[in-house]
Amino acid sequence: MDLEESKKRLIAEIEDMGALKNRRVKEAFLNVPRENFVPPEMRRYAYSNYPLPIGEDQTISQPYTVAAMTEALEIKEGAKVLEIGTGSGYQAAILSEIVGNSGKVVTCEIRERLFVIARERLRQYWNVTVLNKDGSKGHRQEAPFDRIIVTASGKDVPSALLEQLKEGGILVMPVHSEMIVVKKEKGGLKRKMIGYFAFVPLKE
Ligand code: SAH
Repeated sequence: MDLEESKKRLIAEIEDMGALKNRRVKEAFLNVPRENFVPPEMRRYAYSNYPLPIGEDQTISQPYTVAAMTEALEIKEGAKVLEIGTGSGYQAAILSEIVGNSGKVVTCEIRERLFVIARERLRQYWNVTVLNKDGSKGHRQEAPFDRIIVTASGKDVPSALLEQLKEGGILVMPVHSEMIVVKKEKGGLKRKMIGYFAFVPLKE
């Protein structure tokens, strides 16, 4: 089976699991070649619904997880999004497609070797800025953000990230293994849990 065919199968599988209902998220999944975000020896597994090793004991998230988190963010075209945990760069590429030319993605990776590889891969996604830094304190220079996504699990949502979220903004992050969605509203923060997911730990 060629990669395009296995991509279509994967998308159908994710739809069966209840995600990819949003048209722009589904289009982003169709457009971004996941095989370019995994090590060469993993290319043939690029469209299986599993996380894959990317070196440094880290992983590219499971495609279903990327779909579920991206949808929970409810991103609109033109949004400014902060990602903590660039890893392979795949999630950042998906976000880039969704925010479009008028939007912006800032993504932080703490491990230098992964940062260097991801920055190179994301060169053609010119609305994405890749930074080599600890993202647990956010990125004050470009705050506030419309959306914040953390792709490593922490003990709780870092307060710096909540501060850097715009009013009306949404943050998605695994806390232990619970996927937490926080909406910042006039009256305060609204928090809900949308499911259980396995993640590598956030360095704090
Ligand atoms: N979104 C990624 C998933 C990567 S796994 C993808 O699409 O492939 C999580 C990543 O978070 C790892 O690469 C890890 O090095 C990074 N990370 C962990 N703690 C971090 C921190 N405090 N700041 C920035 N990146 C961090």
